[in-house]
Amino acid sequence: MSIQENKFQAIISHAKEYGFVFQSSEIYDGLSAVYDYGPYGSELKKNIRDHWWKSMTQLHENIVGVDAAIFMHPTTWKASGHVDNFSDPMIDNKDSKKRYRVDHLIEAHADKLIEGGKADEAKALLDAMEQLLGKDDYAGLKQLIEDNNVVCTISGTKNWTDIRQFNLMFDTKLGSVTDEADTIYLRPETAQGIFVNFLNVQKTARMKVPFGIAQTGKAFRNEIVARQFIFRMREFEQMEMQFFVRPGTEGEWYKYWKEARLKWHLELGIPQDKYRFHDHVKLAFYAKEACDIEFDFPMGFKEVEGIHSRTDHDLSQHQKFSKKKMNYFDNDVDEATGKPYGNYIPYVIETSIGLDRMFLLIMCSAYEEEKWAKEDGSEDSRVVLHIPAKLAPNKLAILPLLKKDGLPEIARELMNECKSQFKCFYEEKDAIGRRYRRQDAIGTPFCVTIDHQTKEDQTVTIRYRDSMAQERIHISKVKELVLNAIA
Ligand code: ATP
Repeated sequence: MSIQENKFQAIISHAKEYGFVFQSSEIYDGLSAVYDYGPYGSELKKNIRDHWWKSMTQLHENIVGVDAAIFMHPTTWKASGHVDNFSDPMIDNKDSKKRYRVDHLIEAHADKLIEGGKADEAKALLDAMEQLLGKDDYAGLKQLIEDNNVVCTISGTKNWTDIRQFNLMFDTKLGSVTDEADTIYLRPETAQGIFVNFLNVQKTARMKVPFGIAQTGKAFRNEIVARQFIFRMREFEQMEMQFFVRPGTEGEWYKYWKEARLKWHLELGIPQDKYRFHDHVKLAFYAKEACDIEFDFPMGFKEVEGIHSRTDHDLSQHQKFSKKKMNYFDNDVDEATGKPYGNYIPYVIETSIGLDRMFLLIMCSAYEEEKWAKEDGSEDSRVVLHIPAKLAPNKLAILPLLKKDGLPEIARELMNECKSQFKCFYEEKDAIGRRYRRQDAIGTPFCVTIDHQTKEDQTVTIRYRDSMAQERIHISKVKELVLNAIA
């Protein structure tokens, strides 16, 4: 196993051991590519969601939210193209019966070439794949797989089927009647709940183009997956924003959102060299421009967020299928003609980020195994999660040194003062060093210890997670210090 694979496995184990992520229905041996979030995981996930929501809606006067249902009228997915086109090219190995997504199979082979020092060969292979995917040339892709001796990881053979398309949508039945007409889909993206509500939102919130609609929520895809933990799930959560603009201005807004979204990531304190843009070569026929923000996960650079310039495709399709007008009337005056811009279907820039992938990104960038020499020459170590303070599950741990002498009472008073403002954790048990280590492992940025000196001069020891530095501060300053750090 490479160092990076080891790190990924260590993060997965840590996530389970410390109550971040569990396999779904674990007592029944789990359900493939479905996961549950534990006590600290659900806090971290909520904090990421809230942070995104605040930066989109509270900090942009021209973006409002919706919370649309997961079930939608089935025609939605006809109009959006998902019924006919939401499929991935797949190939099966006839010996192992294992099914692969063609791009994943080729990318995994390219990774092996890179590990073997053949980076040029890997690049040529990936370039050829992009070209063939762009042309939907499945015979060519199969040939590429055979020519490059790509083998199945299980059977080790090259005994491949032809490449076929598989739709990724889950379907189910609405009501008790089981005829075809009642088939509905679990939404594969949240975006369509925004498009179908475009005019409801525009009118009721009295929005003027340019404006955006944000939404967070569950999405479902019947993915073909290989051990990727929460990177690729069958049930996951998206945070999407559709920004409606006047046709002709989409180029500048695409650039704006590309920069704004990268800035959002960097403001969390994650180094710039961990990120890169990947501009799409293969564009959907309606798309003008599209890119991914990729992060350097332990398994390499992978997409965490997509930014897409989608023209008026979605609104036009819904207009066509629903026969309801999706026009917006723009009474701003066009300087060139001296007349109002008038009626049009707005163009759309979409920003779409996976909440679970962002969670994994935070865990991967935060996780560190540290070792250092103590004064007596022996070695000490810890596992620490350097989670940005505003996203950390617990912000402050309040730890009375002893369970007696009035120390718990003082600690409880501080707890009562702080707990309505941010998430605090109280613990009396165990040696203080062990208590610090447990908080490091779940990413708590601040611990305060109440000791006998506190009774004399009202000072406490505050310990900083990242530096492990400790200092004494007045107990009345603790709340403010934490509030400043998470603002
Ligand atoms: P990929 O190429 O990885 O399958 P995609 O390009 O199909 O992703 P989009 O449809 O653009 O993804 O979805 C937007 C975001 O939703 C992605 O950037 C990703 O963060 C998240 N996402 C998509 N599919 C999944 C999944 N199966 N599990 C977790 N997150 C996902």
